[in-house]
Amino acid sequence: MLLGCIGDDFTGSSDLANTLAKAGMRTVQYSGVPTGDAATDVQAGVVALKSRSIAPEAAIEQSLEALKWLQAQGCEQIFFKYCSTFDSTAQGNIGPVADALAAALDAHKVIVCPAFPGAGRSVYQGYLFVKDMLLNESGMENHPLTPMKDANLRRLMAAQSVHSVGHVPADAVFEGANAITAKLEAEHAAGHRMIVVDALRDCDLMQIGAAAKGLPLITGGSGVALGLPANFGISPAQVPWQGQNGKAAILSGSCSTATRGQIAYHVARHPSLKVDPADVISGAQTPETVAKWLAETDGLPLVYSSADPDEVAAVQARFGADTAAEPLERFFGKTASCLVDLGVARILTAGGETSGAVVEALDIRTLQIGPEIDPGVPCLRADDTLVIALKSGNFGTVDYFEKAAKMLGQG
Ligand code: ADP
Repeated sequence: MLLGCIGDDFTGSSDLANTLAKAGMRTVQYSGVPTGDAATDVQAGVVALKSRSIAPEAAIEQSLEALKWLQAQGCEQIFFKYCSTFDSTAQGNIGPVADALAAALDAHKVIVCPAFPGAGRSVYQGYLFVKDMLLNESGMENHPLTPMKDANLRRLMAAQSVHSVGHVPADAVFEGANAITAKLEAEHAAGHRMIVVDALRDCDLMQIGAAAKGLPLITGGSGVALGLPANFGISPAQVPWQGQNGKAAILSGSCSTATRGQIAYHVARHPSLKVDPADVISGAQTPETVAKWLAETDGLPLVYSSADPDEVAAVQARFGADTAAEPLERFFGKTASCLVDLGVARILTAGGETSGAVVEALDIRTLQIGPEIDPGVPCLRADDTLVIALKSGNFGTVDYFEKAAKMLGQG
């Protein structure tokens, strides 16, 4: 294994695995830290954790365990993947995990770059934009678990990391890899260990990737991984894929703006069922009933708890944020298990935490990466009878669900 990756959620990990596979690396996504060794032909291993919203100490412990396993597989470089909207709280977990990995790897010039131009995320003057909006005006300020109230990455990282935070501005990035290397060195000499790097275009990320050659640790969104495979002499390749026909069903616990648009589109065209969090928490709505409905309903049925910010706020005020989130995640996980028992062959999930809960409930250990549905979302094969697609909240076009179901079935 050449490149070892640690993802702080499951959809983000499949986004990164997608980028690396497209760039030609033989990539496997693992759910949690594997117990045995990886197959010898794997070039990039992505260990997906569900560590974004847990206690920082637990996130550090799991990430260091993943690091140990990746090092045992012979990895030459480590990539810590977080969301391109920098999903985190004031305490973490991006800063604490990056600090722990930097200490373990003795890394002193740690790139911090969530940019993902393909999905509209760019970093300029150290600020994170989602399309034409600052992060904290993009809808992310209303996220149920990790509301992002600031777009200044230097400030966000400084609040989470024990290290001083530097910056490589766009003018250095536009000059190319040598200028980026020189600026990283200068920021390091000025006493900064975490270094936010501007990036607006894929070509910027390619230059940052080239400048990252030989660095022990890189942190960021999937975009900054675009240029890494070339450092290992690997060039882009067609991703092999065998689709799976059979019943398809959609589960969505994502309350993000893009998902809500996709749900509105889907509800107008396909059978859909909205579950009420209060019914899930009380047990009035069960996974078994919902799974049966999904399996027996023709077309492309959807079950969702997704709601707009006012509804989410009301639910959280009544039950508490965690008390509302956990039973919903468990509900979607159990529903997915029932779907598999009922012979459903294609499962689409929306939401990072929701997808993590589903993959854990299905006890999927490894995922084979297939072709890209929308930027950041690949087709995934779990085993001989099940294909899945895990969508981060803010990814995908409005007709994403239709597209994903079709692509999972093709090939
Ligand atoms: P995204 O990728 O959009 O951030 P996630 O699944 O990561 O989506 O996060 C959404 C969180 O909100 C989950 O923990 C989910 O259980 C919770 N949630 C889903 N629906 C509701 C709702 N109606 N009210 C409150 N919380 C909800």
